Amino acid sequence: MTLHLADVTEEELLARIVPLLQGPDARVLVGPGDDTAWLTAGDGRYLATTDAMVRGHDWIDEWSTGEDVGHKTVAQNLADIAAMGGVPTGLLLTLAADPRTPVSWCEDLARGIGCAARAAGTSAVGGDLSGADAGTVMVSVTAFGSMEGRRPVLRSGARVGDVVAVAGTLGRSAAGWALLREERGAVAPDLVQAHLRPAPPLAQGPAAARHGAHAMIDLSDGLVRDAGRIARASGVVLALTTDLLHDDVAALAAVVGEEAALDCILTGGEEHSLLATFADEESLPQGWRVIGRVEDAGDTRGGMLVDGTPRSGGGWDHFDASR
Ligand SMILES: [Mg+2]
Repeated sequence: MTLHLADVTEEELLARIVPLLQGPDARVLVGPGDDTAWLTAGDGRYLATTDAMVRGHDWIDEWSTGEDVGHKTVAQNLADIAAMGGVPTGLLLTLAADPRTPVSWCEDLARGIGCAARAAGTSAVGGDLSGADAGTVMVSVTAFGSMEGRRPVLRSGARVGDVVAVAGTLGRSAAGWALLREERGAVAPDLVQAHLRPAPPLAQGPAAARHGAHAMIDLSDGLVRDAGRIARASGVVLALTTDLLHDDVAALAAVVGEEAALDCILTGGEEHSLLATFADEESLPQGWRVIGRVEDAGDTRGGMLVDGTPRSGGGWDHFDASR
């Protein structure tokens, strides 16, 4: 018989999931169990970000386990901390769920959150539980982070003449999503895994900051779309060269075909790799590769070129009614 949320008290549920969320972290002075957590705040300044996932919108149970959802929501939040150049210092979790949700699903969620958090050197320090309408499950994670005394790397710092560089994979999450939709997941389980449990190169965020990155963002909504955000925030043009993406295309082409591979790389969302601009190639930390250059925007407000052709849009839009 399946145990549902309606069958257990809040205390019983917390007793099951809190141990799964935690890990040793000297920065957590008071963890779960009191009215709030008490955290050290680095140098007195801290990063804060939040990201929610809703069943049916951001995942479907047919493809994602609770553990997958936990991994992904932590990855989304911590990629944002990394994209500023910071390191995570703690997470808060809110779960609003239909009382008929299996308790085991919540334990899986907590296991995924705890596992992804510990891998990044942090843990969940508290949260909130709420009931929700039939069928509704919403998971929200709020992450805190420290710049360790540095300045954050903003989207607005790209300068004409910079190189555009990326750390991490490109297009793999979108390719995995395409395989799931086509019911061909067995062809490349590693790509499906990249979609269900993105593993951002979190350490590359602080590394880029230490190496003097001028601007940075994580690739949540597609390379062209997110690079466009740096371009407009900085008032420059980011000019990408697909020749420099040759290895990324080759890695996906065998599974999805060459044209779809390039499309996944340029417009695929939820990759959570890091995109940054640096003064020159010599400034790149190990693990970064050049994919383009920053050019003058002239009298435009800035934007994207791919092989010299203007590109905009593409990628993921949460409120796109055409899906
Ligand atoms: Mg982001």
